[in-house]
Amino acid sequence: MNIWVYIDHFKGTALPTSWEAVGAAKSLGANVTGLVLGAGVEPVAKQALEFGADSVLMSDDPALADFRAEVFASTIAAAGEIPDAIFLPTSTRGRELAAMLAIDLNSGVLVDVTSVELSGDKLVVTRPIYSGKILQKETCASKPQIVTLRGRAFPKPQLTAGKSGEIKKVAAKTDALTSVEGYSASEGGVSLTDAGVIVSGGRGVSNNPSLQPPAGLDEKAAEIWRAQQGFKLVGDLASVLGAAMGASRAAVDAGYIPYSHQVGQTGKVVSPDLYIACGISGAIQHLAGMRTSKVNVAINKDADAPIFKVARYGIVGDLFAILPEVTEAFKKKLGK
Ligand SMILES: Cc1cc2nc3c(=O)[nH]c(=O)nc-3n(C[C@H](O)[C@H](O)[C@H](O)COP(=O)(O)OP(=O)(O)OC[C@H]3O[C@@H](n4cnc5c(N)ncnc54)[C@H](O)[C@@H]3O)c2cc1C
Repeated sequence: MNIWVYIDHFKGTALPTSWEAVGAAKSLGANVTGLVLGAGVEPVAKQALEFGADSVLMSDDPALADFRAEVFASTIAAAGEIPDAIFLPTSTRGRELAAMLAIDLNSGVLVDVTSVELSGDKLVVTRPIYSGKILQKETCASKPQIVTLRGRAFPKPQLTAGKSGEIKKVAAKTDALTSVEGYSASEGGVSLTDAGVIVSGGRGVSNNPSLQPPAGLDEKAAEIWRAQQGFKLVGDLASVLGAAMGASRAAVDAGYIPYSHQVGQTGKVVSPDLYIACGISGAIQHLAGMRTSKVNVAINKDADAPIFKVARYGIVGDLFAILPEVTEAFKKKLGK
């Protein structure tokens, strides 16, 4: 079986989920070709080989410096003999490109897959549906079988330094209707989808009536001020653990923290090794984004909160009292 794996990167820094996709394709015994598109991307192509790709199709062209689904898809569609399957990470770019490729190659897409196996020459994939309550098995009747793989659902393969292989150059299709005008960084910190540990805050982070906001704030501003104190505690724990910060939709809707932190059905889907939910009730839409985490911990003052149903460890109590103690304990344990 021949599988192409799209190596998603931003300005030459590959997403770890790209290497997970290479590993998933190799685990099927397939002949794996990395797809590397961009400008000045030879180092990424070499990395793809080191992470296990047998060869690479590389389109290195200034016209591909910025990701645009239409030119990337048409370049890939013309890159060579179409393989049995194309794997992409379930990143924002990966999803967009998968859809565009499906149009260009007249095939179907299996999205956000968490496991993949072979039945004859057909891929049988598993993906969570109904907010993760049911795992559905699916196949794609057409070729290539286009699959996006959920981040951190597959192990990252070991890098073999210096491993080489053929890097075949492919002409770029540059006929684009869109152009990228520029980028602005939304914030620093650890990316949610790649994070091994996530500490998240919900509406409960604003609930500390004993905190006295500065004089002159109206009710809404006082609520946000309180939430900022709560999120500071969430952030302190995240920084000791080297974790990313997540949030519930209630927290982002209320303006406590930017939307980019939202976890859930309409936010980011994450699968970290450890997810700590602070002041989050555990609505079905939130669980949809984090229930596949390996270990869930919940801190909530309501012992009946649904979040405890998916938590391996639960602490019932006020997060404003608990978080500083937990952070201090981790600091000591980790020698920080
Ligand atoms: C179409 C649709 C899509 C949605 N998508 C998403 C999504 O992607 N992500 C998402 O999160 N939600 C989503 N929602 C919203 C979801 O239904 C919930 O409203 C939301 O998750 C609730 O957020 P919360 O748990 O922070 O708030 P709440 O439900 O209000 O819970 C707050 C929790 O904090 C606890 N608490 C309060 N004070 C403290 C304290 N001092 N210490 C400890 N605990 C405390 C409370 O006991 C409570 O359990 C969606 C809803 C719809 C309809």
